[in-house]
Amino acid sequence: MRAEIIAVGTELLLGEVLNTNAHYLSSRCAELGIDVYHHITVGDNFARLCETLSVGRERSDLLLVTGGLGPTADDISREATAAAWGRPLVTDPDLLDRIRTYFCNRTVEMTANNESQAQMPEGAIALENHRGTAPGFYLADDVGSVACLPGPPGELRAMFEEALLPLLRSRDLIPETRLFSREILTAGIGESTVADKLADLIDAQTQPTIALYSGTGTVRVRLTTRAADAEEANETFVALQGEIGRRIGEYIYGYDGDSLSASVGRDLRERGLTIALAESCTGGSLSGMLTDAAGASDYFLGAIVSYSNAAKEDLLGVPQSLMIEWGAVSEPVAGAMAEGARDVLGADIGISVTGVAGPGGGTEEKPVGTVCFGFSGPWGTETEGHFFTGDRAGVRRRSTIYALVGLRRRLSRPS
Ligand code: ATP
Ligand code: MG
Repeated sequence: MRAEIIAVGTELLLGEVLNTNAHYLSSRCAELGIDVYHHITVGDNFARLCETLSVGRERSDLLLVTGGLGPTADDISREATAAAWGRPLVTDPDLLDRIRTYFCNRTVEMTANNESQAQMPEGAIALENHRGTAPGFYLADDVGSVACLPGPPGELRAMFEEALLPLLRSRDLIPETRLFSREILTAGIGESTVADKLADLIDAQTQPTIALYSGTGTVRVRLTTRAADAEEANETFVALQGEIGRRIGEYIYGYDGDSLSASVGRDLRERGLTIALAESCTGGSLSGMLTDAAGASDYFLGAIVSYSNAAKEDLLGVPQSLMIEWGAVSEPVAGAMAEGARDVLGADIGISVTGVAGPGGGTEEKPVGTVCFGFSGPWGTETEGHFFTGDRAGVRRRSTIYALVGLRRRLSRPS
C-alpha cells in the first residue's frame, strides 16, 4: 500500500511548529509495512489543499492528513477533502450528539462553529476523538482513500492507534509483510572501498537491498528486506551477510546496536589483556569512548592525558631529545608515549595518540590532521602516522576511532 502524509497548517510552513506528526505517522507506517512515498506540508489555504489532495488521490492508495479539523474558519480539511472526492458535506446526527455531550460534560458553552465539526463528506466513516472535539474521518472510493486526523499530536496519535488502525485492519488493508533491516557496522575502511568490494552485490541487489551510510570513521552497510516477521527476515539476511563477512570481515565490529568500544572490550576481556592510554590531541576522548562500555574496569587501567611536552617527559618518560629531534607529533614520540603508559600503569598494552587537531598549529611538514599512534603490546611497539580530514572535532573523533581500530587489528592477528 502506497501512502502519503499531508500536514496542513501555515504555522508548519512558517517554522513555528515542528512537523512531529509526519515523523510519528511515517515511523508507524514503516513498522506496519505501509510504504510512504511522499511527505507534503501545505498551508491553511483551500485551493492549495484541494490541489494537494487531488494529486495525492490519483497517485497514492491512502492519504494521511493531519491538522485543520478544528471548528474555526482556517480549519478547512473537511471542506477540501469533500471537494477533492466530489462529495457534499453532510451533518452526521450521531456526531452532533457526541459533540453536544462532550460540551455538556465539561460545562463549556458550545458555539455554532462547533456544530461544523459534526459535518463529514457524504459516505465518510467517523473516527472518534476521545481527547478533543474534532472527530476525524475515513473516506474511500475506487480512486483512493483518505484519513483526516487532528493536528494536536496527542489527539492524532490516539485517533491513529485507536480508531484508524482497527478500521484498516478490519478491512484487511494492513499489509502482511513489513520492512526489516540489519546493519553491518564497520570501522577502519572507507566508504568507497566498501562500495568497491561489494560492487557486484550492490549492483545485483533485490531482496535484501543494500545501502551504505558513512559516519565519522565508520561505515554502516544496511540490508533491508520485506518479511512477515523477524525470523523470516533473518533467513533472507543470512546468505548475504555471510558473503559480506567473507569480503570485509576484518573491518566488521558488530551488528545493529553494537558499539566499537564494546567490541574492543570483548576482544580484550577474552584475551585477559589490560590496557593503558597516553592521550595528547584526543584530550581524554579515547578513554571516554573505551569506558562507554559497561564493565570496562575489567581491562581498562587508566590514562595519562599528556598535552604538554613536559607532561610527556615527566609522566610518561618520553626523552626530551626525542621531542626535539622529531617533534611532539611524530611516530617515535608516539611509540615512546605508548610504552610509557604501558609501563607507568603496569598494563599489557599501551596506546598513544599525538596529533595536530587544528585549526592552528599546522606546518607544511605536519599539516592540521596529522596524527601519530603508538601501539605497544605483546606484539612489540608499533607506530602509525595518518592524515585525517575535517575540522578539529572531526580530526579528534577520527583519531579516537582509529586508535580502537588499530588495536582491534592487532588483537585479531594470528599469534
Ligand atoms: P484544533 O481543533 O486544535 O484546531 P486541528 O485539527 O484543527 O485542531 P490544527 O489547528 O491544524 O489542528 O493544529 C492545532 C495545533 O496542533 C497546532 O497549533 C500545533 O500545535 C499542533 N499541530 C498541528 N499540526 C501539527 C504537526 N503536523 N506536527 C506537530 N504538531 C502539530
Ligand atoms: Mg485548528
